[in-house]
Amino acid sequence: MSNDTRPVWAAIDLQALRHNYRVLQKLCHPGGVMPIVKADAYGHGAVEAVGALWADGARAFGVAYLEEALELRERFAQARILVMGPSLPTQAAAFVAACDGDIMPAVASWDQAVAFSQAACEAGKTLGVHIKVDTGMGRLGFLVAPSPADSSEPVAQLIQRVSRLPGLRLEGIYTHLTDADEQVSIADEQWGLFQRVRSDLLELDVSIPIQHIANSAGILRWAGRADRVADYSRPGIVLYGISPSADPRPPADFRPVLSLRSRITHIKDLPAGHSVSYNRTYFAPGPIRFAILPLGYADGLRRDLSNLGQVLIRGRRAPIIGRVCMDQTMVDVTGIPDAAVGDETVLIGRSGQDEITAGEMAGWCRTIPYEIVCGISKRVPRVYS
Ligand SMILES: *Cc1c(COP(=O)(O)O)cnc(C)c1O
Repeated sequence: MSNDTRPVWAAIDLQALRHNYRVLQKLCHPGGVMPIVKADAYGHGAVEAVGALWADGARAFGVAYLEEALELRERFAQARILVMGPSLPTQAAAFVAACDGDIMPAVASWDQAVAFSQAACEAGKTLGVHIKVDTGMGRLGFLVAPSPADSSEPVAQLIQRVSRLPGLRLEGIYTHLTDADEQVSIADEQWGLFQRVRSDLLELDVSIPIQHIANSAGILRWAGRADRVADYSRPGIVLYGISPSADPRPPADFRPVLSLRSRITHIKDLPAGHSVSYNRTYFAPGPIRFAILPLGYADGLRRDLSNLGQVLIRGRRAPIIGRVCMDQTMVDVTGIPDAAVGDETVLIGRSGQDEITAGEMAGWCRTIPYEIVCGISKRVPRVYS
C-alpha cells in the first residue's frame, strides 16, 4: 500500500491457493479437479486465481454466469468453462454466440434445452452442454423423483429427448449435493439417485462422457473414494482454504488464501460513560482507549459485528465496540497499551500466534464463510503475492 491510499487491503496468497489445488488433486485422483471460480473466485479475484491455477495445469473451471465466463476467456483463450447458474431462455442466443466449444452452459429444463437447440441451429453451431439433474437439492436441474410414481416422465427419458435435439451435444451430466457436511446419509442417497439416472440413460443408449458430483464438502467426505469423486470434482470454498462446514478452522492440509487487513488511523481516549458510534449502543464502562479503523460495512465488514466481533492487533484481540459504520469501525485497545496509529490490524487472518478465520467471523455474523469472503466489496484492493 502506498502512503497515499487508504490502508485497507485483502492479501491473497496465490501460493496457498496452488497448494490447496495440489492437495485437492491428490484427494480427487484419479478424477480431475474443476476449480469453481464464480463470484470473482469467492472474492479472491477470478482472473488472478485462474492464472495461478493454470500454472498448475488446471484447464476446466466453473462459474455461475456467462459474464464471468467471458471475462475469463478473454484472458485464457484455452480455458474450458462450465456456466452453472440459471439463465433465461432468451439468453440462449448470447450463449451460442459466445461458445466455441469452450464455454458450456448447464441445461436444467426442457424449455431451456429447446431454446439452446434453436439458437444453435440458427447459428449453424453445435453447443456442448452439461445436463444438470436435481437429486435432492431442490433447486436447479431436471428433477430425479425419489420414487418413479412422483413424476409423469422418468428423468432419463426426458434427457434422452434432450439428447435428440439438434444442435446440442451432451458433454457432461452432474448434480449438486445439498448437505454433505452435516447430514451424512443425504449425500449418499443423492449419489445413489445420480447413479440410477446414469444407468437408466445407458439402457436408453444415451452415453454422456463426463459425470461430476462432489463440491468441497463432498470431496472431504468422500476423499479417497475414486468412484464418488467421478470424472471431475467441483471444489469452491475449500480451494480457498476455508471449511465448508461450521468448523472455523481450515480443513486439514488446506491453507487460508485470503486475509483482510487494515491499519489504525486514529487512537482516542474516552471518559467513563461516554458512548461510541451510531445509536449509542456502547457505553465506556470506565476510561477507555479505542482505535478507529478506516473500513466499514461498505467494504464488506458486516454490521452484525457491532459490539460482537474482534480484530487482531499485535497478536492480541481487540473487541469491536459500537456499531460498525459504512466507512469506519471502532475497536477497544485499552488492553493493548502499545497499540499505535499505523499498526496493522487483522480482520481475517493471522497476527502473531492468533488467527481469525473467515469461519470465525461468519460465526459472529450467524452466516457462512462463503458470504463473508464473497461480501468483501470492490472498494477493498486485492494485493496478490
Ligand atoms: C458453488 C458450487 C460448487 C462449489 O461449492 P463449494 O461448496 O464452494 O465447494 C460446486 N457446484 C455447484 C453447482 C456450485 O454452484
